[in-house]
Amino acid sequence: MTETGAHIRKMGVVESMRSGADMLCLWRICGNAACRRARACRGRVHLCGPRNYKLLPEGVRGFFELFLAAKQAGIAFDDFKAEVQGRPETKAYAAWRRTAGARLNNKKPA
Ligand SMILES: [Zn+2]
Repeated sequence: MTETGAHIRKMGVVESMRSGADMLCLWRICGNAACRRARACRGRVHLCGPRNYKLLPEGVRGFFELFLAAKQAGIAFDDFKAEVQGRPETKAYAAWRRTAGARLNNKKPA
């Protein structure tokens, strides 16, 4: 593999960690003020990510693990969504996203 190829591959890993962190709204619980202000990961995601991930509600982590497993298994996102509909992990994740959104709009969750 060329140096450029390795570099691109590394960028891909960082980008996917970043999109995972943003999908999980890890900024909400990040110790880095820049992440909380930006409402997105602005730190070193390989350090922020694992630290913040542990602090997520159990159901949210469960959902993400299902999501990763489905991705690895090559399941299309729409099929995954249909499969996990109504599961407790899915409800936990939806609630977590909802409260993140509510906070974005400075509104209390209903
Ligand atoms: Zn962060």
